[in-house]
Amino acid sequence: MNKTKYKFSNSSVDYYFDASFSHLKNIADKKTSIIITDENIFHDHQDRFNGWKTIVVKAGERYKVQFTADLIISQLIKLEADRKTILIGVGGGVITDLTGYVASVYMRGMKFGFVPTSLLAMVDASIGGKNGIDVGVYKNLVGSIRQPSFLLYDHGFLKTLPENEWENGFAEIIKHACIKDATMFEELEANSIDVYKKNKKKLAGLINRNAALKTKVVLKDEFEKGDRKLLNFGHTIGHALENSNQLSHGRAVALGMTYAAVISEKLTGFKNAHRIAKLLLQYDLPTFTDFDKQEVFEILKMDKKRERKEISFILLEKIGKAIIRPIPLKELEKIIGKL
Ligand code: NAD
Repeated sequence: MNKTKYKFSNSSVDYYFDASFSHLKNIADKKTSIIITDENIFHDHQDRFNGWKTIVVKAGERYKVQFTADLIISQLIKLEADRKTILIGVGGGVITDLTGYVASVYMRGMKFGFVPTSLLAMVDASIGGKNGIDVGVYKNLVGSIRQPSFLLYDHGFLKTLPENEWENGFAEIIKHACIKDATMFEELEANSIDVYKKNKKKLAGLINRNAALKTKVVLKDEFEKGDRKLLNFGHTIGHALENSNQLSHGRAVALGMTYAAVISEKLTGFKNAHRIAKLLLQYDLPTFTDFDKQEVFEILKMDKKRERKEISFILLEKIGKAIIRPIPLKELEKIIGKL
């Protein structure tokens, strides 16, 4: 195990890399802490939860809503949780987002930590302190920015991760490579999901590298005034497609990155949209699709990255170098219409 402490503006977060779930009892008191997980993870890893007070919620993005938060809150009341209770989200991004959100509002805030169990949560969702829920088709419209106290990485959870969830995780890894790490992009081009699944050391290296990459970006700009926006590459069109077409997050982001790369070629002179599409296909992710452009534009107008009549769109200048470009909504409507 390798413990690293990162200092954010109001708190510090302990990262336990290459750790074992059994270490959790040394970080949080088993008697007073409460775990939140979903039914799939609870079913596949029941033994690990022995002796822990556990709230099990239904799995899936459609449960990342206020109704589930309310269910959790009523259970917390029943369990007599107070401000000293530590809430621990053991799960994918849906669980970590929900746990962080509930912990931010229950009794105006309690301590929380995460054990990410999906590849996507390990490299992205559990990191950075953004917590939230969806409202109708609007992704993450309600939420908070509050850092967890700790993250514990146990790669053993990945043994039960369904095949398509690996693809979702790789979408965010490819995103990180596109915006910040050309060398990792080349490494990904030379490998495949199967190679990483078979080589534990290589996989651990990739997870740690991505967790550090995201953490570094967030540390420089915790409240998303500048550079943190780069992590939204592929997410503007991606989010609009995600809930309107019931796509998984990773697949939606893959489509969003494909179109953002094509738009980059038009606006920044970027020349490698074909390499991005090829890499996405190599990791079994989608690239182009038929979609209702007007509907996507209408949803996109409500995106959190909109400021008045402009939207901060993330474009690429080259692989590994992303920029923020404010695009007027009128211009964006035309661009999307021509995709
Ligand atoms: P998820 O939590 O729905 O997990 C995907 C599926 O895999 C679920 O069915 C879950 O039960 C199952 N699963 C997870 N780990 C498993 C395991 N070890 N074994 C068996 N099954 C397992 O979704 P996700 O892809 O992990 O995360 C997507 C969510 O993360 C989205 O809601 C997205 O908005 C959010 N997200 C948040 C941030 C952030 O900064 N807060 C960043 C990226 C994504």
